Amino acid sequence: MDRVNGLDLDDVRELAALEEDDSVEGVEWDEWQEDEDRWADAAVLPLDRPRLESLLGHVETAVEAEGCDHGLRATDAWAVRNGVSLDDLHRGLRGYGGHCDCEVMFNVDPDTVFPRARASPD
Ligand SMILES: [Zn+2]
Repeated sequence: MDRVNGLDLDDVRELAALEEDDSVEGVEWDEWQEDEDRWADAAVLPLDRPRLESLLGHVETAVEAEGCDHGLRATDAWAVRNGVSLDDLHRGLRGYGGHCDCEVMFNVDPDTVFPRARASPD
């Protein structure tokens, strides 16, 4: 599984252009963020893999049931229930291209976020 290499940035931008409206501020989709900035954002994602998978499961269920409202409603609902900082979560998800619930679902891949299964040392 190496989805990051199959990720076509043009497709992502097209999808984002369709998805985003002015409810998302300060996002310049004309120019993909510099990789450096993107990974700096990604690095603050305040989740370990089980929590990320829990989030993605929740978001997927919500988006399938209600669709995406071009915001992070399902993401936020999960975060509030799980005591996760919204600021860091939003920034971290943006680093992976997750600007709204459906993009979180499509773009934030646990195998990308956690490339190797890190066995936690006991
Ligand atoms: Zn969306």
